[in-house]
Amino acid sequence: MVRILTGCDGMKNFEINTYNRPVTCSKCGGLMVFAGVGEYRCEDCKYVDYDDYGKVRLYIEQNRGATAAQIEKEIGVSQKSIRSMLRESKIEITAESKTFMKCEVCGTDIRSGRFCNKCETAFHRKLEEEERKNHMARLGKGFGLEHEKLGTGEKRFNRER
Ligand SMILES: [Zn+2]
Ligand SMILES: [Zn+2]
Repeated sequence: MVRILTGCDGMKNFEINTYNRPVTCSKCGGLMVFAGVGEYRCEDCKYVDYDDYGKVRLYIEQNRGATAAQIEKEIGVSQKSIRSMLRESKIEITAESKTFMKCEVCGTDIRSGRFCNKCETAFHRKLEEEERKNHMARLGKGFGLEHEKLGTGEKRFNRER
């Protein structure tokens, strides 16, 4: 799925591939929050899961020199996605590379990918905010009530009104 990242100071909008980011915890149904590149952690039970990029990266770490075809077969991420990750340089081909890239949002030097950690995290926090609303709606909590305050950790259950 492709999502839009809005630059912090009204800069351009960027399209970001979320690589099948895990949204809800497969163990307890809690909300998965961004914990690092390709990695997500359940807010409730702390279960860790990966998006397609995270899975590919893990696989490559454990299977040096794996081909795209092999990766597709083993972990079910399409070769098309793998090629797109390579194109975005999200997968570091050589760790020795001296070329530094710039974050497309804020211009900070980065080693791989398109965005610095800060901007990438900000992007995921936005997705999580949206997802939190959907999540609450799905759980039926606060049905028909205001949801705005839920993101702050403050929970309101004024059911009778
Ligand atoms: Zn969980
Ligand atoms: Zn940045």
